[in-house]
Amino acid sequence: MQKYTITVSGIAVTVKKYSVSKSMRIIVHPGGEVTATCPIRARKSDVENFIALNCAWITSMQKKSVSLPPESKNLRVPVEVLKQQAKAYVPERLLLLSRLNGLKYKSLTIGSAKTKWGSCSRDGRIRISCFVMLLTKEQIDYVLLHELCHLIHFNHSAAFHKKLDEMLPNHNEKELVKEIKKVSIYNQK
Ligand SMILES: [Zn+2]
Repeated sequence: MQKYTITVSGIAVTVKKYSVSKSMRIIVHPGGEVTATCPIRARKSDVENFIALNCAWITSMQKKSVSLPPESKNLRVPVEVLKQQAKAYVPERLLLLSRLNGLKYKSLTIGSAKTKWGSCSRDGRIRISCFVMLLTKEQIDYVLLHELCHLIHFNHSAAFHKKLDEMLPNHNEKELVKEIKKVSIYNQK
């Protein structure tokens, strides 16, 4: 992957070139940072033009994409924004955590379930709710590791919780569960 930063019409954009990329794509992250992913052969001028054409869209997404202070978890954020944020963050993170733990899942879907953060099917299909973007990074890791742990234990037995606690860097499963329970996603539209 090649990476550089350019500024177009006052917007700073991190450009990432991937050999596997087939088309250009712009992502506005939580907090408003902008990334453009593009094919390895894309010229700098093409990338600049593409960003210039999408300036209005980037600015409007940045306005919606405020990072949430910890005390305002229950603010209403448009689902489309959360979905975009989750799609920019979760796939890479889940892949990293699965590799760190030597686990393999079959597929990942970003959904918009309000009653659960995630699920894992018996054949290793993981679903994560875009509402996880309302959690802290440590809490998101907890949700992802919880679903990955179901690849080993397809239940919530004592063995499951023991394994999950081992997978967490701070071995604080109980504490994280307690904190996450305080975050409400039911009032999201
Ligand atoms: Zn579970």
